[in-house]
Amino acid sequence: MNKKELEKIKQKALEEHIPIIMDDTLEVVDKVLTEVKPKRILEIGTAVGYSAICFSEYLQEGGKIDTIEREKDRIEEAKRNIEKVGVADKITIYEGDAVEILPTLNNQYDVVFIDAAKGKYPFFLKEALRMINKNGMILADNILYKGYVMSDYNKHKQRTAVRNLREYVKEVTENPNIETEILEVGDGLAISKIL
Ligand code: SAH
Ligand code: MG
Repeated sequence: MNKKELEKIKQKALEEHIPIIMDDTLEVVDKVLTEVKPKRILEIGTAVGYSAICFSEYLQEGGKIDTIEREKDRIEEAKRNIEKVGVADKITIYEGDAVEILPTLNNQYDVVFIDAAKGKYPFFLKEALRMINKNGMILADNILYKGYVMSDYNKHKQRTAVRNLREYVKEVTENPNIETEILEVGDGLAISKIL
């Protein structure tokens, strides 16, 4: 992969305030992916393709990433970026709302990375659990949402998002078939292993 192009993509995304995965979060995900060596990854929230490109390095030979994005401009930019870096054979973008696309997918994934609308995390989890392999990992970015999720403050504007993120945390910590760690990297990362 073309690392120089990847660095340019990252800088442009940061300048344009596109919420790409933060460096410390990426470091943790890299470790998880090194351990799992996934054949197949599902990502919800492509943006301009930065995280998908980063993750593609850790795929098994012949492995693939499916990633979902609903914003047209971002999809077009992601396609160009994926092409430039030279990983187009490994990444498929599904264009549209993940809430509509997920129920149409019927694949088996080793890793699912959830990084889209926070109010939909419980639904994304349900769909991820339907398609994840045993011993697979479901990762959820922005799970602590600026600290709101673990605080008892309920008056801010993002109430629905916070409520749904809390529901996600409750489900992955209380479900006996899931082992979860919540890390304070970036905006919070939930790492759940499916037993
Ligand atoms: N994973 C990317 C960043 C994703 S930012 C990276 O780290 O490089 C979140 C993206 O999710 C945004 O581009 C937004 O348009 C998209 N998104 C949010 N809700 C969505 C939904 N319901 N369906 C599809 N895409 C969604
Ligand atoms: Mg994120």
